Amino acid sequence: MKYISTRGKAPILTFEEAMLTGLARDGGLYLPESIPQMPSAEIAALAGLPYEEAAFRIMRPYIGDAFTDTEFQDIIARAYAGFAHAARAPVVQLAPGHHLLELFHGPTLAFKDFAMQLIGQLFEASLKRSGNRVCIVGATSGDTGSAAIDAFRGLEMVDVFILYPNGRVSEVQRRQMSTPAEDNVHALAMTGHFDDCQARVKDMFNDFAFRDEVGLAGVNSINWARVLAQVVYYFTSAVSLGAPQREVSFTVPTGNFGDIFAGYIAKRMGLPIDRLIVATNQNDILHRCLSGGDYIPDGVIPSISPSMDIQVSSNFERALFEAYGRDANATAQLMDELKAGGFTVSQGALEALRESFDSGRVSEEETRATIQRTWNETGELLCPHSAIGVHVAEQHLTPDVPMITLATAHPAKFPAAVEEASGQHPPLPLHMADLYERAERITEVDNDLGAIETLIKDRIAR
Ligand SMILES: *Cc1c(COP(=O)(O)O)cnc(C)c1O
Repeated sequence: MKYISTRGKAPILTFEEAMLTGLARDGGLYLPESIPQMPSAEIAALAGLPYEEAAFRIMRPYIGDAFTDTEFQDIIARAYAGFAHAARAPVVQLAPGHHLLELFHGPTLAFKDFAMQLIGQLFEASLKRSGNRVCIVGATSGDTGSAAIDAFRGLEMVDVFILYPNGRVSEVQRRQMSTPAEDNVHALAMTGHFDDCQARVKDMFNDFAFRDEVGLAGVNSINWARVLAQVVYYFTSAVSLGAPQREVSFTVPTGNFGDIFAGYIAKRMGLPIDRLIVATNQNDILHRCLSGGDYIPDGVIPSISPSMDIQVSSNFERALFEAYGRDANATAQLMDELKAGGFTVSQGALEALRESFDSGRVSEEETRATIQRTWNETGELLCPHSAIGVHVAEQHLTPDVPMITLATAHPAKFPAAVEEASGQHPPLPLHMADLYERAERITEVDNDLGAIETLIKDRIAR
């Protein structure tokens, strides 16, 4: 299996190379050269399998000869061993024809654990073989950083530095980053906003001397291996509701478009998905684009669903590439126009997008009301992101096709917003009930590239 860039000017890579590289050298995103097909009988045979075995069968065609079957099975087993639910991604029913896919039973209580835990084990296995060490540097508004620190803590071949905006992440998110005791993971509280953290990370990647000296690597949501890990639960949940004999639809709380793009890949592999519905908060650039064709960023308004507060949705580039019939030049041109302020999707490409995707936008008020109403009607306490999914899904229910809404985080990760909306305080799950008592380890840093680079060099030289 080979991987190509959406912008057509980067080297063609293997799975392992694409995983270790993340972003293509031409600025594009990697995709498999062709999408493997999963025949109906193989999909039906997933019914009743442990999550790990289903994951192995679904992902196997993508990894080529990067790992033997036994190695890959061990990697998957280690990745999901720390989940607090035996089913890993259980489905519960909310209403007739409406189901919730609970993706928050991983170690940091958000769906990002599915991809990050796997990528941690993939990196470790690959680097142990080559003898190389890497230094992962990332910026986070909360969920990605905590998932990365948990996934890489204690691994031998990797150091991890996460920059987060000091004072601007939730207490649960901060503690998940600051309490792991392993000395290969480092939470750096930076002066400034998330955008500042992101900008310093970009600077480090553009500082080639530094980049080579420390072996910089990225694991942000454009990494193909993360998308791939997320394809699995579309299959397992659909099969539990009758696929492939029956079609299903999905509603996905969306920010960077990584999670819902995994659903699109599942559909292309042969899973009978009717609709893929993008649910956005008030930062609704994707909803506006899918409605009218214009993709014009206009500034982030902070919301109670902060993991979806985005201005530019990076994985959307992959969907555009497919909608333009895999035309890399057309994709590269759109991305150039984006740098100059925005672009308009062609009529043909917009129709192609709409063959798979619908969309909806949810206000802050509607989000709170959905948390409250769902609690009253079902006893399920939703996090604000999941509530946005549920609200949009309810507007797209049809009698014949079951709807599966992705619950992307545990309510206890966003306790203040959940309690304000519902009057219920969401308790932390038992396995992290002592989070507030654990010792924290935080390094405060200024918004100063040179100082941050020096700190990283000192820490990894230890
Ligand atoms: C990251 C995140 C999202 C958005 O997912 P994308 O893949 O970026 O679209 C939604 N909800 C939660 C809780 C998240 O952490």
